[in-house]
Amino acid sequence: QISPGIKDFEGIFSTMKSNWPENWDTAVAADRAHVWHHMTQHKPYETTDPTVMVEGRGLRLWDAAGNEYLDALSGGVWTVNVGYGRKSIADAVRDQLIKLNYFAGSGGTVPGAIFAQKLLEKMPGLSRVYYSNSGSEANEKVFKMVRQISAQHYGGRKSKILYRDRDYHGTTIGALAACGQQQRAESYGPFPDGFVEIPHCLEYRRTDGTDAPFGEVAARQIEEIILREGPDTIGAMCLEPITAGGGVVLPPEGYWDNIQALCRKYDILLHIDEVVCGVGRTGTWFGYQNYGIQPDFVTMAKGVASGYAAISCTVTTEAVFDKFRMAPDDPMSFFRDISTFGGCTAGPAAAIENMRIIEEENLLTNTLEEGAYLGEKLAALQDEFSIIGQVRGKGLFWGAELVTDRITKEPVPEVIMKQIIASCRKQGVLVGMTNRSLPGFNNTLCLSPALIVGKADIDEIVNAIGVALRDVKI
Ligand code: PLP
Repeated sequence: QISPGIKDFEGIFSTMKSNWPENWDTAVAADRAHVWHHMTQHKPYETTDPTVMVEGRGLRLWDAAGNEYLDALSGGVWTVNVGYGRKSIADAVRDQLIKLNYFAGSGGTVPGAIFAQKLLEKMPGLSRVYYSNSGSEANEKVFKMVRQISAQHYGGRKSKILYRDRDYHGTTIGALAACGQQQRAESYGPFPDGFVEIPHCLEYRRTDGTDAPFGEVAARQIEEIILREGPDTIGAMCLEPITAGGGVVLPPEGYWDNIQALCRKYDILLHIDEVVCGVGRTGTWFGYQNYGIQPDFVTMAKGVASGYAAISCTVTTEAVFDKFRMAPDDPMSFFRDISTFGGCTAGPAAAIENMRIIEEENLLTNTLEEGAYLGEKLAALQDEFSIIGQVRGKGLFWGAELVTDRITKEPVPEVIMKQIIASCRKQGVLVGMTNRSLPGFNNTLCLSPALIVGKADIDEIVNAIGVALRDVKI
């Protein structure tokens, strides 16, 4: 079966090949000499070439060495949701840039206004969009809003922000203060005060030693922390709907109802970080919509424009927005924040077209159908290989946690994860692992192909993993 989006790309590849420039070797040398790659130890590049990607179509990528890959990661980090090579997005951006490329976010632009309206139609109960450029930045905006609400409405008392073990909210110092992956934050402190960690909700690795429903146990653990800190000191709780880099952690039954109840009981604003789940990844527009909850803040970035332009959004309610309306006796009451490139029009222009594609090609349905198929295939692989301790996922957002022993659940060492990933790559399939180089979080294989994926692609991905697992020696 060919998924609807892929048809767009047929025939383009042959033209593309003849158009490739000849200076790839120069690009590889320049990359090796000058580019500092993200999250990467550069030592190996002393003896090997870095991979430099050249083109992409649909789910396929080609690098400067001429290798072809089936990308099961949507650009490495859950980003290219509608696939590579979308000419209609490029056209929408181009047309908009010719009309008006930029105006500061202290004013409005047509694509910014139209995208906000279209986005909010998908998000009942929310009514305001604040634009910036990255997931980290979108989350920082929430932290600042919460702090300002605390300062102006609670005498500075309600300023603490709860974040969860295993969750990640970005790379800036503020976002790292809310980082549930300690190795990421290590060496970058001191961090701002007022960020308090709560336990993760990964049932597979529960440590309470009971068999009580884990959705209740996890919520009780959080309530104890709220009471210890003092509810009137806590402004917000910041959570990923499904933890991504911290291990593809799905919430246990009842978890989200309990979280929502805690937030209401203690007057805590609920901030859902949709930077990964947002815009279709789980088969709904947003991850939180799988769990029937009503957040006060939603942040999003990666899938909003599928990486065709930089854009992030901090979305909130009219009740929150109202707290920043002008109070005549307080000239400081507005949100005193700016993001220069939050005024670029390329982002919302790309986002409008990205959303249109998802609707026109029924990509949410495709995500649910093909995601279910991917889940079945991974479950079959788990039956075959005892190294797979647990398979977890929703929509097209999957993880397979690898262990050396199913009873002790000892995580497989990173060197094994790397061997598996390298084997898949050699077979032309790009799969990933959660948080490379972060022990304790890096033993989950990650699979998140673009939402246009079809069954034949999924077979190819899962077969490659099967071959890799057959070859690996623990
Ligand atoms: N939030 C989550 C859940 C993420 O996974 C990430 C990035 O991976 C971020 C926030 C930070 O986004 P960015 O890298 O765009 O700053």
